[in-house]
Amino acid sequence: MVANRQTLQTTGEAINTSRPSKAKLVSLVVPVCNEQEAIGPFLDKIEEVFAPLEPEYLYEVVFVNDGSRDATEFAIRSRMQKNCHIILLNLSRNFGKEAAISAGFEHSRGDACIPMDVDLQDPPDLIPQMLDHWDQGAKVVNAKRICRDSDTWLKRKTADGFYSIFNAMADHQIPHNVGDYRLMDRQVVDVVRDMGERVRFNKAMFSWVGFDAVEVTFTRPQRKNGTSAWSFWSLWKFALDGIFSSTTAPLHIWTYAGAILATVSFLYAFGILVQTLIFGVVVPGYASTLILILLFGGLNLFAIGILGEYIGRIYSEVQDRPLYVLRSVHKGQDDN
Ligand code: UDP
Ligand code: MG
Repeated sequence: MVANRQTLQTTGEAINTSRPSKAKLVSLVVPVCNEQEAIGPFLDKIEEVFAPLEPEYLYEVVFVNDGSRDATEFAIRSRMQKNCHIILLNLSRNFGKEAAISAGFEHSRGDACIPMDVDLQDPPDLIPQMLDHWDQGAKVVNAKRICRDSDTWLKRKTADGFYSIFNAMADHQIPHNVGDYRLMDRQVVDVVRDMGERVRFNKAMFSWVGFDAVEVTFTRPQRKNGTSAWSFWSLWKFALDGIFSSTTAPLHIWTYAGAILATVSFLYAFGILVQTLIFGVVVPGYASTLILILLFGGLNLFAIGILGEYIGRIYSEVQDRPLYVLRSVHKGQDDN
């Protein structure tokens, strides 16, 4: 099944939306990739957190199986027999976490959505606090990591560097140390869902939507089961996606760098001209000529590379392929 916006709306309508009239429904959107061991502990914790909140708040867990090659699907479907709050979307292959979250949003029915990781690094214990703020009128409640000791020193430093560089360049700032874990009111989710871009960097898209955000804080625990799917190379590519899909500042930087270099070059050329007119043709100059050729050659290639980053992403956008492809959808005790 190809999941463009139209087909998704049709699929969404097929889902039974009946629920007690006063209860608020909260959709937990959970992308999963090779997480067979994490499913059970995650659902145990969610059931524990929501038990005292019901019947005022009801919940659904929208698992998006992002091309898992282990028994993740089996683990989820086994739990679906006991827990009718679970919806499972199987994607046809791995499309990446950002696309998986979009799929989850498009199939969620909640009055609010909370995208979260399945490995319990986004502690479900924060959910009651988020709901309190939401009740008081907040449209967005961000969960901010105040302590990242569970991450390596290198990961913490590169993440800090990324937030600083991103915010220095981007038109819309992203809050430091706030990941995807946050509560978003349906009004916000609908805007994000209708943003049709292919190259997606959720954190920046969530910020672009606006609305005043309230913050709750937490210490990020260690991953409880399995291993992280992110290598440094995938994080690097993700960071580039974030910058190039959110700002054209690198292009502007090159406009100014080019202007400054051109001015310096004209001045230098004028100096050489004057020197030649006064002292005649001076043959030595091999080193300065070579340095200039290498310098400008390198800068040109670098600037073309920046252009290429944008052109590559424009290409993805004009291809207009669906963001993800659904293999199957499973709801509650219905196993089709
Ligand atoms: N994930 C996914 N698709 C991917 C990579 C990750 O759906 O291609 C899911 C993963 O199963 C987990 C969440 O995204 O629920 C966060 O991944 P991970 O814990 O590996 O990221 P980290 O916490 O190391 O940033
Ligand atoms: Mg994790």
